[in-house]
Amino acid sequence: MPRVVVNRTDSALQEAAESCPVSCFRKNNGEYVIDGSQCIDCGVCQTLVAEGSILEDSEANEADTNFNNEKAGEWESAI
Ligand code: SF4
Repeated sequence: MPRVVVNRTDSALQEAAESCPVSCFRKNNGEYVIDGSQCIDCGVCQTLVAEGSILEDSEANEADTNFNNEKAGEWESAI
């Protein structure tokens, strides 16, 4: 399952973005999202942030999933 950023201002998200093997984090004005179409489901990012800040899309609510999907196509790469 692709990951979804739920707490988009978690202070560890930049480190998570830099650790993502496929660089699928996007950033804008200090907020982060994940491009789920590129996420390979490795889970690395989830180990670096506060519990609940990143979830599998099956666990996230629809609004958060939709926000990630929408902004992933608009925001710049986070790295
Ligand atoms: S689960 Fe892996 S591939 Fe997906 S966003 Fe996190 S670090 Fe990147």
